[in-house]
Amino acid sequence: MIQLSRFRDFVDTVLFGRELRCASCGRIADRSGMCSQCKERIAYVLPPICSLCGTPLRLLGPKTRGEPASNPENQVCSGCAMTRHYFERARAVAVYNGAARDHIHELKYRARTELVAPLARMMAEVAIGDGMAGECQCVVPVPLHPEKAARRGFNQAQLLAEDVGRLLGIPLEVKALQRQRSAGSQTFLDRRDRRANVIQAFLCPFPALVSQRNVLLVDDVLTSGATADGCSRALLMAGAAKVYVLTFGVSVADERDWFEAPGSSRA
Ligand SMILES: [Zn+2]
Ligand SMILES: [Zn+2]
Repeated sequence: MIQLSRFRDFVDTVLFGRELRCASCGRIADRSGMCSQCKERIAYVLPPICSLCGTPLRLLGPKTRGEPASNPENQVCSGCAMTRHYFERARAVAVYNGAARDHIHELKYRARTELVAPLARMMAEVAIGDGMAGECQCVVPVPLHPEKAARRGFNQAQLLAEDVGRLLGIPLEVKALQRQRSAGSQTFLDRRDRRANVIQAFLCPFPALVSQRNVLLVDDVLTSGATADGCSRALLMAGAAKVYVLTFGVSVADERDWFEAPGSSRA
């Protein structure tokens, strides 16, 4: 496979004069749209992971990277042990730090939309590997606050969802979800109130778009899971059968579940 893809790169570069440039740094890229150095810097999510939210329960060091690791069924993180989720399960490509965070920040805050293609490709691979891709009949992006969307000019979740849907051959339902109201300043709310606030912030104005369908909900990052739960709740209330969540990054909220392996150089 590696030989074949190298050959294709050679054909693209030499015969057709097309040099695929890395969307992140501009060096020569492989067919994924990113160079090997930039992909190497990403801390990919590897087992063992929480069977519900997909957060790694340990970040494996470089020495163990790539070795098969067991992922016992129903192993859940501390957060999921205390919280009931509305989604079936969530899966992500990478731990949301270092290079993964850089890529998402470049996309969101510097409008580097050329990063969408390589990030979405990695997300589609995770959805296929997990099996959730085969379960879903539509792809729905997490909507932005309308003010934020107006300021930014685009919704990164929607751009990712468009590419993921195209790669997986699953139709996109971009109007399925809406933010009900701005959650406003949440600074003075405790964690529980903040979660309750976010969970009620979404609605499905057109239930027929998702009714009796399994939904692949797409966002850039899964943090507390409150946004994903709010969207999933609205989708289920509109008649969706099940909701699966796919993100590029997953933040590791609870350090009890996660530690840097000794000798690992990853930040
Ligand atoms: Zn690069
Ligand atoms: Zn979890």
